[in-house]
Amino acid sequence: MPDVHAVLRTDFLDLEPHVTHLNLIAGNWQAGTSEIENRNPSDLSDLIGLFAQASPDQLDLTLERARSAQAEWVSYGLERKQAVLLKVGTELMSRAEELGTLLSREEGKPLAEGKGEVYRAGQFFTYYAGECLRQIGENADSVRDGVEIDVRREPVGVVAIISPWNFPIATASWKIAPALCYGNAVVWKPANVTPASAVALTEIIERQDIPKGLFSLVMGSGRSVGQRLVESPLVNAISFTGSVAVGKGIASSAIQNLTKVQMEMGSKNALAVMDDADLDLAVTLALGGAFGGSGQKCTASSRLVVHERVHDAFVDKLVAGARAMTVGHALEEGTQMGPVVSDEQLQENLDYVALGKSEGAELACGGVRLERAHEGYYMSPGVFLNTKNDMRINREELFAPLTSVIRVGSYDEALAVVNDTHFGLTSGIVTKSLARANHFRRNARTGVVTVNLPTAGTDYHVPFGGRGDSSYGPREQGKAAAEFYTTVKTAYISAGAPD
Ligand code: NDP
Repeated sequence: MPDVHAVLRTDFLDLEPHVTHLNLIAGNWQAGTSEIENRNPSDLSDLIGLFAQASPDQLDLTLERARSAQAEWVSYGLERKQAVLLKVGTELMSRAEELGTLLSREEGKPLAEGKGEVYRAGQFFTYYAGECLRQIGENADSVRDGVEIDVRREPVGVVAIISPWNFPIATASWKIAPALCYGNAVVWKPANVTPASAVALTEIIERQDIPKGLFSLVMGSGRSVGQRLVESPLVNAISFTGSVAVGKGIASSAIQNLTKVQMEMGSKNALAVMDDADLDLAVTLALGGAFGGSGQKCTASSRLVVHERVHDAFVDKLVAGARAMTVGHALEEGTQMGPVVSDEQLQENLDYVALGKSEGAELACGGVRLERAHEGYYMSPGVFLNTKNDMRINREELFAPLTSVIRVGSYDEALAVVNDTHFGLTSGIVTKSLARANHFRRNARTGVVTVNLPTAGTDYHVPFGGRGDSSYGPREQGKAAAEFYTTVKTAYISAGAPD
């Protein structure tokens, strides 16, 4: 067995393709029952590495160890915990170029987005390093004479984190950083499509001053490792990001053990473009929101709700912009949109293109598979026109570089269309009217709302989450994360009269 650990510490830009990357089980790097290949979606001849698949026994072992490691972690002082998070964060930020390259290589987003994601992941850790020292409770007088009350937050215990492939480092980090900050142990199952970023982040965390077994990496398929994890009575809380179908399954497994659950799932975000909008701004926001990350964002602008007075001018500019986008290898200079993540995703996307056409939508551009110098999962950005909000392409999450234009006759109709969805993650409006902007901000039924900004792109120090089928359980990020990663204890103290 090669010294994988040494390879990892050296440089992720120079991985040896036939090395097997291991899971972190009870504080030790371990091989699994099998391994999977990880290939670059921009170039299928590029083998990134082999990745171990955890066994059920390894999962149970690491969960047992996590329990005792968590008790040890609680006894660490605040500054010692803070130092750990700070070091992880600063290392991620300083290695954004190297790890961003790895991320873009395995996920397919353009390099600038990959680097930005790693840097953002670092910011989650440095933010929660600060939060380590801001864990201040409440106190109150009791209604009973001579009794005082102290309300404080304690860790929930062992947290299972199940993350998706579309933001392989950032989504995991916005869960892992608060989980550790508030004193929990973490068992992390990343998406099997993007395991290299998970190994890189784990390697950084494992090297810090933490109890052995506090942090575990259990790579493996969702159906086997993921399912066993969510069914385990040793897990106290589950934080999940992914599809609605899997989320519902996780919730029903979790309820058997009354395990706490937080889930971020699908979306069908709308950007409303009003007749007084700055059209160039609206087109820029729509293109970035619809095709950034190849449309594989939970915050993607997949419905463009456009006022009839500016519809034609907006559509002309939008279609011209989509046609002009450079689709190519994620690591090549000039690439504006990389490939989609996998063959499965590409096939689903093409099926949605066929569905849209069969429903009567007009495909104005794109939506087809592209050939490039390297074999990969390339697809051109597609724009559907003349769509109705009740078409399936406007009801279901596509997670594809596809967007639909819906023509409306008024602001009121626009707001009604924006809200006519069973999801509710983000929505945006482009308008110069303060009155409309304010009305929209207050009446859009989404967890995040934007004015003259993209529907995608959120800050790390404020809550993130949605309504309807988009989210379940407490919000993520910012101080709101404390709600999920802690449990409240209310202490009543009667000190008695002084002697
Ligand atoms: P999934 O919901 O299938 O997967 C998300 C995570 O859950 C992955 O780590 C996956 O593991 C894991 N998982 C899958 N099945 C189980 C299970 N039974 N128990 C526990 N964990 C499980 O999403 P996909 O990655 O397959 O993407 C499919 C669709 O989900 C997308 O097209 C999109 O619509 C939506 N999605 C939404 C995201 C968002 O941010 N809102 C993010 C990602 C996806 P593994 O991948 O190894 O099987």
